[in-house]
Amino acid sequence: STQIQLASRPTGWPTAENFDVTTTSYGPLEAGQVRVKNEFISVDPYMRGRMSAARSYVAPYEIGGPITGGAVGRVVESASDELPVGAVVLHQHGWSDTIQDDATTFIQIPEVPGMPLSLRLHILGMTGLTAYVGLTQIASMKPGDTVFISGAAGAVGTAAGQIAKLLGAKRVIGSAGSAEKVELLTSKYGYDAAFNYKDGDVRGQLAAAAPEGIDVFFDNVGGEHLEAALASFNNGGRAALCGAISGYNSTQKLAGPDNMANLITRGLKLQGFTLSSYLHLSEEFGAKMGEWFASGKIAYDETIVDGIENTVEAFLNMMQGANTGKMLVRI
Ligand code: NDP
Repeated sequence: STQIQLASRPTGWPTAENFDVTTTSYGPLEAGQVRVKNEFISVDPYMRGRMSAARSYVAPYEIGGPITGGAVGRVVESASDELPVGAVVLHQHGWSDTIQDDATTFIQIPEVPGMPLSLRLHILGMTGLTAYVGLTQIASMKPGDTVFISGAAGAVGTAAGQIAKLLGAKRVIGSAGSAEKVELLTSKYGYDAAFNYKDGDVRGQLAAAAPEGIDVFFDNVGGEHLEAALASFNNGGRAALCGAISGYNSTQKLAGPDNMANLITRGLKLQGFTLSSYLHLSEEFGAKMGEWFASGKIAYDETIVDGIENTVEAFLNMMQGANTGKMLVRI
């Protein structure tokens, strides 16, 4: 089995030197174990946080240890009554091509015709649920709201824009980092307006896209985007602070918004969240998203990189915006 491990903790942008590609061979299965060949593995922004030693909501990766995270695969050998050969499983073993462990560390998922397995790692899984939780639980989105989503062309962002529309948003505005992504937001994802933050003046671009202000902000980016949202908020506005990717690889102290006083004068609510506290909504989300998906209301994109040996590059490229929708590694 080929596995990617953390070799050293990155400072600023990670490089290939921070990772080791190791090969291990597994012994025969012990009772209760299965061997799973991965089909897709996920590379996610939160993994950057776990590569640092700082305490966060998930424990740091250990040096010399695996990069754990979401993956889907298929059981190829089994010594467990629970998981037969051929079963499709979702798990958290992360960046490896094959994994052997107790059957209890894998969750069997149904194989549904017309529903690619990779979707369990994004629109029908973690990033979809994150979008749903942020809008419904954190930002208390209501029909008629004008919603602004930063990082709109990524995995969480593409889900959030569509869910906001399906929940009755009046106007959905997105920002992303290229002209192609901006085009896609309005043509494929139902955004009413979108802009490229790399064109500069995020505050001015948002104000132009939201002439009547915004009621909800779903923030994946932080920094300048949060400042722009604070400027455009209507009274009683609400923000779900989901991520702040603009600072994940920064070695400098990030400049905060210069207009925090708007929280007071406009009665705004900003609340951060991590999905781990809202996993009880998985079923509710699965039912709603399953229905939307089955009735053809959900679009998605995937940027797929082939080969376990290219995982680090896929992760770094995702952090730089090479993906549209979900970045995945196909094994
Ligand atoms: P994405 O698919 O959105 O990929 C990351 C994207 O971030 C890139 O494609 C890039 O797009 C954008 N980006 C990178 N640097 C910057 C920058 N300096 N300014 C603006 N945009 C930038 O990843 P996910 O959908 O998986 O995650 C999106 C956000 O949600 C992240 O902040 C992540 O940490 C957070 N998250 C939080 C969870 C929670 O429980 N709170 C759970 C899951 C995700 P572009 O080309 O537009 O720059």
